[in-house]
This record gives sequence, C-alpha cells and structure tokens, in this order.
Amino acid sequence: MRGAVIHAPGDVRFETLDDPKLLHPTDAIIRTAVTCVCGSDLWPYRGAEPIRDPHPMGHEYVGFVEEVGSEVTHVRPGQFVVGSFATSDNTCANCRNGFQSSCLHREFMSTCQADYVRIPNAHGTLVATDEVPDEKHWAGLLAVSDVMGTGWWAADAAEVESGSTAVVVGDGAVGLCGVIAAKEMGAERIIAMSRHESRQKLALEFGATDIVTERGDEGVARIKDLTDGIGADSVLECVGTEQSMQQALRAARPGGNVGFVGVPHEVAVDGQELFFSHVGLRGGPAPVRRYLPDLIDRVLTGRIDPGKVFDLTLPLEEVAEGYQAMDERRAIKTLLTP
Ligand SMILES: [Zn+2]
Ligand SMILES: [Zn+2]
Repeated sequence: MRGAVIHAPGDVRFETLDDPKLLHPTDAIIRTAVTCVCGSDLWPYRGAEPIRDPHPMGHEYVGFVEEVGSEVTHVRPGQFVVGSFATSDNTCANCRNGFQSSCLHREFMSTCQADYVRIPNAHGTLVATDEVPDEKHWAGLLAVSDVMGTGWWAADAAEVESGSTAVVVGDGAVGLCGVIAAKEMGAERIIAMSRHESRQKLALEFGATDIVTERGDEGVARIKDLTDGIGADSVLECVGTEQSMQQALRAARPGGNVGFVGVPHEVAVDGQELFFSHVGLRGGPAPVRRYLPDLIDRVLTGRIDPGKVFDLTLPLEEVAEGYQAMDERRAIKTLLTP
C-alpha cells in the first residue's frame, strides 16, 4: 500500500509501505475512505516536535472494514466505520467514566494517511453507520473522528450552556468546530477570535455572532468590552500556545470555565493567577468515542456540517502539498482521497 512518511521538518513523502496486518484479536483493518492532515501534524512538520526516525503520519480516518480479529464482533467487513484518534476498549473504568481517550489500553493512531490502516482496540473504538453513507457526508464524518469531536469536548469542558456567552480562541479546524459545538449546546453569543477572512466567514456561517481580530491583552480587552467588563462564561482554547492559553484564562469571567484542547507546547500556567481568577480549567485529548454516536447522527441528519472545514481536497499521493498548504495557511484543512 501507499502512505505518508515524515522524514524531517518540512519533509513528508508519499511511499510504498507494508500492508497492515491484524496483530491482536481486537484489531481491525480498514480501507481508508478519506483521511486528512491535522493542525497537530504541523507541530513535527514545523520542527516543534522532534522526529527521531522517519515514521508514518495521520490519525483521522473513516473507512470500510476489510478484516477483523476474532474478538471484534460488532463490526463486519464491508461496513463503513468512524473511529477516534485515540483508540479505546470502551470497557475499562476510564472508558466507563466517559474518558475513553484515557483508556487503560489506549493507543494513539498515527498511520492513517495511507490506503489501509490497522485499528487497535477496534471492538471498542469503531462505530459503524447503518448503511454506507452518501459520499457528501464522508468529510463531515471524517471531521467527527477528531476535530469535531475535539471542538465538542472543548465546549463540553468549558461547560457551554443554553443562553451563555462562549469565546473561541483559535480559528483552525478545531476552533471552527468549537463554534459549531457552542451553537449546538445553545450558546447565545459566540465570539470567535480570528484574523483570517476565510476563517471568519466560516465561523459566522457556523454560528459565531461576533469576531474579535485582536490578540493577547488587546484581545482580552475586546472580550471584556463585549461582556460588560466581566468576561465570558465559557472559553474554548483551541491552539496550545502560551499566548492562547493566557488569552483564554483572562477572557473567562470569575466562575467561568476554560476548555483547553490545543496540545500545549511550552505552556506554563501561573498558579497564583489561576487561583485568584476563579476560573475552572479542564482539557486534554478529547474523549471522541463518547460523542461518536451523537455526532455521527448530527452529521447524517444534516444538522451540522463540520466537513466544511476542509477547503482543500487532494489525492493522497499529493499529501506533501497538503501539509505545505496548511503550513503556509493557504488551507484550513486538507482532505486526502486514496
Ligand atoms: Zn487531529
Ligand atoms: Zn478503556
């Protein structure tokens, strides 16, 4: 089969790889329907994470079941399935508590920009749709496997409620999906922080009511202006830098909550500031598996269309261009078709 391999920062190659095989009775092999490049793939691509050896890339997927291990009984070959970037058995204590992305048997996906993918913990990870969905829904379902699930978690962790005010820090695919989630959870006011016109447009289309283009202290001051000087009820932090985290914490009102889902890179939180802010803070890798049935349903019924975050579609063999376009911010998110 063929797939993407990263060799060094800025160097993603499309190579011939060994076909994946079942390694455990709980594994499945899927044939990729569509896959994509994630904003988090840009961390190693930009040299912000070390690359020790060349390795395959990709953690977002939807596909057709090809083969299942003996303990995988709830999906069968031919079915269309959606999974999560973090696999889970869906039976351990952490899974039962709804934190499948902390499953005691968790394995993170990392080989999905390829024709075929081995899914560990397939019995607990994969959710099959009733029938093979119309191709127009594939991009939306793919978004559910990470960015939509992560945006949902950001809103959930920030405790967005009906009638509340939510701020979304970050206008990447996750932030934009966070806007969708805040809208679905009933936020009355959704303030998207973005300085890129195409992303502002999509944020407004997804339900944002206000756009703030300022960043840092100025951005926080704008949020305060818009919230009677108090701050927002909920803030979704969808970037993972020191500046974005500070901005998020300072934009929340006392008693408000920050959901942080951008993987932190060199982020330090000041304990005294957090203490006196009265702001609740929760984040981490999204428990996408918990949300899958609900989000799949919202996509298939046309209630939400997170597939719109893909503004560039390329054949899988042009994966390198897919990275470059996102790195240069020519694309929000690249969809790849095998
Ligand atoms: Zn991702
Ligand atoms: Zn588990």
